Amino acid sequence: MFKVSRPAAAVASLRTGLAKRACIHVPPVAVARSYATSASSYTIIPNTLHLPLLTTQLKDRKSAKLVLSNGIKGVVISDSETPVTGAALSVEAGSWHDTIEGTAHFCEHMLFLGTKKFPSEHDYERFIFDSNGQMNGYTANDHSLYYFSDVSPSAFDGALDRFARFFYEPLFNPNCVEREQNAVDQEFRKNIEQDGWRVLHVRKALANASHPFSAFNTGNLETMKMISQDTLKEWFRNHYSANLMHFAILGRDSVEVLAEKAEAAFGPIRNNNVPALATTGRAVFPTSLHRTLTWIEPIKNLRELTLAWEIPFKYNDDTTKPARLASHLIGYEGQNSLLSLLKKEELAEGLSAGQSHLGAENLLFEISVSLTENGVKEWQTVVGRIFEGIASLQATHVPKHVFDQVYLVNKIGYQFQQRSSGIATQWCGLLRRESIETFPQKSFFISSFDPAATQALLNELTPDTCMYTMIAQKAAFPLNKSEKWMGAKYATHPIKGGDLGMWKSAKPHPDVSHPAPNPFIPKHLALTARDSAHPQLLLSGNEGKLYFFPDAEFAVPEAAYMFNIKTPKIRPDDPRSIVLAALYTRFVHERLQEISYDAASAGLHFDVGSVPGDTGIAVGVDGYSENAALLLQSVLGFLRNPSVTEHEFAVYLESLKRSYQNASKDSPLRQAMDKLSNVIHEKYCPPAMLAEAAERISADDLRAFSESLYETRYIEAFVGGNVTGDEALAAWRLVQESLPGTPCSQESVARSKAIPFSETGPTYLDTNVPVKGNALVWALGLGTRDHKLRTGQELLSKLIKEPLYTELRTKAQTGYIVSSGGMQVEKQLFLQAVVQSNTHDPWDLLSRVELFHETFLRELVESGTEIQARFDAVKAAKLARLAQPYDTLAAKLRWFRYLAFEEDADFEFLEARMAAMKAYSLDDLREFAVGALGRRNKRRMAVLASGNSEENLEFKWRAYAKL
Ligand SMILES: [Zn+2]
Repeated sequence: MFKVSRPAAAVASLRTGLAKRACIHVPPVAVARSYATSASSYTIIPNTLHLPLLTTQLKDRKSAKLVLSNGIKGVVISDSETPVTGAALSVEAGSWHDTIEGTAHFCEHMLFLGTKKFPSEHDYERFIFDSNGQMNGYTANDHSLYYFSDVSPSAFDGALDRFARFFYEPLFNPNCVEREQNAVDQEFRKNIEQDGWRVLHVRKALANASHPFSAFNTGNLETMKMISQDTLKEWFRNHYSANLMHFAILGRDSVEVLAEKAEAAFGPIRNNNVPALATTGRAVFPTSLHRTLTWIEPIKNLRELTLAWEIPFKYNDDTTKPARLASHLIGYEGQNSLLSLLKKEELAEGLSAGQSHLGAENLLFEISVSLTENGVKEWQTVVGRIFEGIASLQATHVPKHVFDQVYLVNKIGYQFQQRSSGIATQWCGLLRRESIETFPQKSFFISSFDPAATQALLNELTPDTCMYTMIAQKAAFPLNKSEKWMGAKYATHPIKGGDLGMWKSAKPHPDVSHPAPNPFIPKHLALTARDSAHPQLLLSGNEGKLYFFPDAEFAVPEAAYMFNIKTPKIRPDDPRSIVLAALYTRFVHERLQEISYDAASAGLHFDVGSVPGDTGIAVGVDGYSENAALLLQSVLGFLRNPSVTEHEFAVYLESLKRSYQNASKDSPLRQAMDKLSNVIHEKYCPPAMLAEAAERISADDLRAFSESLYETRYIEAFVGGNVTGDEALAAWRLVQESLPGTPCSQESVARSKAIPFSETGPTYLDTNVPVKGNALVWALGLGTRDHKLRTGQELLSKLIKEPLYTELRTKAQTGYIVSSGGMQVEKQLFLQAVVQSNTHDPWDLLSRVELFHETFLRELVESGTEIQARFDAVKAAKLARLAQPYDTLAAKLRWFRYLAFEEDADFEFLEARMAAMKAYSLDDLREFAVGALGRRNKRRMAVLASGNSEENLEFKWRAYAKL
C-alpha cells in the first residue's frame, strides 16, 4: 500500500479521532472582490477549479475562498441541508517552536480551558457535547490544528464564537495551568509503552541535535513545571499570529452570511506578521546515519524493517507529486509487485511506501516491510530484493496509464463525493499546504504528468544514502542504549561492506515491473432508475433472505453487496472455530491480494471476515457499481477452496498467535474493556483462550474446515445502491452456486445473548495487567431496550458526558483518558464510564465515579432552569441528527441492513425513536435517572485493572504495621 501522509508525530488531545474523508466543491467566482462590513472587510479569491459536482445531494452546496481583513486565509462551505456544522483553524506553530520542551503542546491544551467571554474551564466542552458535537486539537511539528464537528446547525453560532476566542483572548488561568500540567504528564505516560511513540523517540535521539526535530515534544511533569502562565502567554503572543493561520467552516447559511460570520469570528485575531519557520538546508538526520542499521526492541512482538531517505524538498511538488507516484509504484500489491515477490519468498507479510512531510522543508521517504520470522533472519536478502525492485522500476519510465488512472479515480471521487461531517477539518488541513489561489485543485489532483521527476526520486533511493531500522525482538547485536524519555532499548551498527556492495550492484528483478492497466477502473458510471422508500424482500425461504434497496436519495454510481453466510461450523463459544475462521479469511485475502489492490485503487473494496458475534462468514463488496459484480465473482471464486499450503499456513498461524499474545500488552483500559465483554456476553472467547486454541491447529484441520464450512448455512443478503433487482437476484444465485450446501436452522446459528448484570448487588472483577497504568471500567445495567428506555439512556449519557470529564480529568486530574456514554449489547442497555490513570488506584477511581454519579443525580433532581435549558438543547440536537442520520449511501445501506436483520425489518424504527424522543420530558428523565443511577439499581459492574509498574505504587494504601 502507499502511505497516507499525516502530520508526523502529532500530539493529539484525546477527545475524538480526526476526520476521515475527502469532499470538496468551490463555485465559480469571477474576480477578486472585497466586501466592507460594519466591522471590517474580507476579500474573495476567485475559483480556478471548474469541475461540477454530480451528486444530487450536494447540488446546492457552495463555497468561497476568503482572505480576512487580518490576513487569515480560509474557506466557507455553505450547505443549506447539512445535518451538522463545523469549523477548524490551523496555525503554523508547533513543537518545533518550543522554547521549553512541550510548550506548544501545553499551549494547545490550555486554549480549551477558558476565554475572556467564556471564562469557565468547561464551557466549551459542555457547549460542544450538548450540541451533539465533537472536538479536538493536536500539536504537530510545524503546526497546530483545532476543530469542532458534528455540531447541530442551531448551535453553530455559539460554537464558532466560543472556538474563535481561543485565538485572541485565552485566559491561561493560573489555577488551570497548574492542574493541566498533570494532564500533559498523564498523556506522556500513557504513551510510554506504545511502540510507535518509542520508535519516534529513538529517531529523535538519533537526529541532528541542532534540528528542532530532535527535541522532546510531548512534555511531561518535569518540563511542564518550568512553564509558567507568563511563559505560555508570551509563547502564544509570539507564535499565534493571523498571517500563519488558515480556517474552514461548514454551515447552513449562505456563502455571504458565512463569510460575514468568519470575519466576525476570526477577524479580531492579531496579525504580528510572524515569519514562518524555515529549515532550508538543515537536515533532520546526520549523514553519519547513512549505511547504518538501528535496531529497536519493541514492547509488543513486532517485526518491521524500514528503509528511510531524507530527500530534497522539491519532491513535495504539489503539481506533479513525484513522491505520490513513486509510493504507488513501490507500494503496489498487484501482479509483478515487490510485495508479491517478497511474499512468494516467504520474507514478508506486508509492505508500505510513502513520504512523510516532517515539517517545514524536511521530507522523508520510507519503505516499511512487515517481516516473517524468516524475513528477520534474512533481512539482508529483503533489503536486496527492495533494491532489485527499485532497479526494475528505474529500468523503464513510469507508464502514462498509471498517471491517467490515478487522475481519473481522483476526478470521479471528486465529482461523486458525498457529505462528510469532517469536511471543515479536512479542508483546513489541506489549505495550509496549498496556495489559496489554486485550492483545492492541487490537493485533489496530480495536475501534470512528469515521469522524469518520479524517475529522479527513484534515483535518490540508493543503498548509500539509506538509513535502515529494524523493530524486532531478539536483536542481532547487543542493544546498549536506552532512549532518555521512554527507555526504549536500541543500538546503531554500520552496515557490513559486503552487504552494501551486494545491494549497490542490484540488477532489475525479472518478477517486478510497473503496474499493468487496472481492469477495475470504471468507465461509464451509468445510473440505474431507482425508486424505493424501503428495502424490498426479494427472496425468503429456508436458505435465507435477500433484501434489495435501489436507493433513490443518493444519486451516486455506487453499490453494496453484503452477504452474511451463517454456519454452525463457527460458534462464539468455540475458540477453535474462531481461530480456524480467522485463518480461513486470511487465506482468502492472500489469494485475492493481487486483485484487491487494483480494485481498491479504483474505488472498489471487498471484505471477507467473521460475522459479528462469530456465527459465520461475512462477504461484502462495495464501491463504484460498474465492476462490483465482477469483484464479487472473483471473491466467491476463492471462498470454497483457498488452497491451504503448509508453508503459508505456518506463517499465518504464527502471525495470528502473535496478535492474540500482543493483546496482553494493550493499554490497561483496552484489557479492562475486554474483561467487560467477557462478563456481558454469554459466549465469549478472550484473546488468551484463542491463543491457546491456536496451539492445536494444523493445516489439515484448516483444509477440512474450509471444505465443510458451507455444507449447511443460512444466508442473510442485502444488495443496494445503484443496482437493479435482476442484478441483486443474479448475485444471490451466484453465491448459492459458488457455495453449494443445504439450509440450516436459524437456531443453530443464533448469536450469543447479553447477560444482564446481577440484581443482587454491585459486583467487581479485578485483574492485574502486565503494563504501566491502571484502569477502571464502570458499567450500569439499565434493562431491555424499548424506545423510551433508549431515549432516557441517550439523553442522560449526553448530560453526564461533560461534567464527568470536567470532574475526573480537568479538575481532579485522575487520568488523561476519561470518557463516558451509552452502550447497547444485543437488546440490553448500559451506561458506561472509563478512566485510565497513571496516578490513581482503580478502587480510588471507582469511589470517585460513584461519588460523581451520586452528586450528579442529586443536582439533576434538585436543579431548576439551568438543567432545563441543557435538557432542551441536548434533546433538540439529538432530534436534529435523528431526522438526518446518514451522510453517505454506504452508511444508509448499512443502517437498513441492520434494520432488516437485527430489528425484524422494522423500517419505521427511526420514526418511532423520534416520536419517543419528542414526547420525553425533563420529568421523565429525572424519574429514569433516579431508577438508573440511584443506589436501588444494583446492576452495577466494575472492572479494576492494576498495572505492574513502580509508578502505580507511588500513592497506594498499605496495611498498617506497628513498628
Ligand atoms: Zn495533548
